Amino acid sequence: MKRIRIKEVLKTTPNNQTVVVKGWVRTFRNSQFIALNDGSTASNLQVVVDFENTPEALLKRITTGAALSITGVLIASLGKGQAVEVKATSFEILGDSDAERYVLQPKKHSLEFLREVAHLRFRTNTFGAVFRVRNSLAFAIHQFFNERGFVYIHTPIVTSSDAEGAGEMFRVTTLDVNNPPRQEDGRIDFSQDFFGKSTNLTVSGQLEGELAAMAFGDIYTFGPTFRAENSNTTRHLAEFWMIEPEMAFYDLNDNMDLAEELLKYVIQYALTHHAEDLELLSQRLLEEEKQKPQAERSELSLLEKLQFCLANNFERVTYTEAISILRESNHNKKKKFNYLINEWGADLQSEHERYLVEKHFKKPVILTDYPKAIKAFYMRQNDDGKTVRAMDILFPGIGEIVGGSQREERLENLVTRMNEMNIPTHELEWYLDTRRFGACPHAGFGLGFERLVLFVTGMTNIRDVIPFPRTPKNCEF
Ligand code: ATP
Ligand code: MN
Repeated sequence: MKRIRIKEVLKTTPNNQTVVVKGWVRTFRNSQFIALNDGSTASNLQVVVDFENTPEALLKRITTGAALSITGVLIASLGKGQAVEVKATSFEILGDSDAERYVLQPKKHSLEFLREVAHLRFRTNTFGAVFRVRNSLAFAIHQFFNERGFVYIHTPIVTSSDAEGAGEMFRVTTLDVNNPPRQEDGRIDFSQDFFGKSTNLTVSGQLEGELAAMAFGDIYTFGPTFRAENSNTTRHLAEFWMIEPEMAFYDLNDNMDLAEELLKYVIQYALTHHAEDLELLSQRLLEEEKQKPQAERSELSLLEKLQFCLANNFERVTYTEAISILRESNHNKKKKFNYLINEWGADLQSEHERYLVEKHFKKPVILTDYPKAIKAFYMRQNDDGKTVRAMDILFPGIGEIVGGSQREERLENLVTRMNEMNIPTHELEWYLDTRRFGACPHAGFGLGFERLVLFVTGMTNIRDVIPFPRTPKNCEF
C-alpha cells in the first residue's frame, strides 16, 4: 500500500479504512500512544499501539526520533485534541533512535541550542513551521512574477566585476594560497588563476539583470548572494538569498508599486496556506515577548502584524522629510539614538529606520530620494544635483527589507558619476552598452529573502530562518 502523508490523513473522514503512514516519533506515552510526525504539517498523528500484544522489546524501540512505518485503521479519536487516530495493526521500526544520545528529547530547547544542532532542528515544531513557510514564500514569489509575465533569469554566482560596491566580497581562487604566483612588483598574478583574472562570489545580480531587462522588459532573479561584511547582527548573513526584479519602462513610482504589491501578495499567500504554522509561530513569539519588559513588547501579535501590513498603504516619504522627523524627534533631543541625527546627508542606521516605522508612522515606510553620496553609482540623479531616485522599504522589527532605485539610463550622467566615484568604466563596458544601444528608463529592487521570512515567521534572529546560516566565524554543516 502507498503511504499517505499525515496532513492528508488528518483531513480524512474516518471509516475504518486501512492506511499506511511513515514518520518520526515525537513522543510515546503509556506504552500506547505514539505522536507521529512526518513534516507535512505541524500536527502529529496519534497512533495507538496494541501494547498487550506487542513484545516488550519492540515497544522499547519506540523512542523519540525513531523512524516508523505503521499500518492501521483510521478511526474517530476518543481522546481530546484530535479528530482522527490510527489504530496500528502492524508496525515496523525503520530506524532506531538511541534515547541516550538523541538530544531532541521532548522538552523546551532554546533557539541558541537548536542552532548548534541545526542538522536536527528541522524536526522541531518551530523549525518545521519556519521552513514550511519559507518554502511557500519562495513559491509565492515565483508565482507572483510568473503571473505578471516576468522572465526568471539566472545570473552568475562567480563574477569578475568588483565594481558594484554593495559589500565586501569573497574571493574565488584555485591558486595555492601558501605559494601564489607573483608579478614582478610582488602582487599576486591572477592571470594564472583558474579564470585568468581575479574572481569573487556575487554580491548582487542586478547589473546582469539590467542587461536582460533591456530585452525581455520584465525580469527577476532569485538566487544566493554573498557578502563578507563583518556585521554580526540579527539581520545579516554572509550567504543569503535575494530576489531582484528589473523592469524596463518603469519609473520609481512604478517600482514602489510593484514592491508593495509583491510584499502584500506573498504575505497573503502565507496567511492563506499556513494558518496552522503561523498560529504556532504567533504563540512562540508571544512566549518570547513575555521575557521582555512590558515597554519593549510589540503591541500586535504576529498574525495581527501581518494583517496590518496588508490593510495599510506603505507610507512614502523622502529622505529629506525623514531626516527632519528624526532630527526633531524627542528620541534625538533626549540623545536616545546611538547615532544622533544632526546633518542632512547622514546615513540612516537601523535604529533610525525602526524609529520611523515603529514609533512615528507605525506602518511600513518607503524612503525615497536619498543623498547621492550614500548610494550606488547606478541610481538615477535628480535635478537638484544632490539626491538620487532611490527607495528603501522599511519594515517593523526588521528595518530595511528592500533596497532599490530607478536606474541612471543617461550614458553621460552615468559615466560622470562613475568617474566621480572612481569606478573603472573600462571594466563595465558591457554594462554601459545598455546605455548606448536602446537605453530607456528602467528600475528595480532587491528583496532580501531571509528578511522577508524573518518578518513573516516572527522569528527574531536571521540565523533561524535559513537552514544552515553562514556568519562571521561560523560555517558549520
Ligand atoms: P543593510 O543596510 O541592512 O546592510 P544593504 O543596504 O547593504 O542593507 P542592499 O545592498 O540594498 O542592502 O541589498 C538589498 C537587500 O538585501 C536589503 O534590503 C536586505 O533585505 C538584503 N540584505 C542585504 N544585506 C544582507 C545580509 N548581509 N544578510 C541578509 N540580507 C541582506
Ligand atoms: Mn549591508
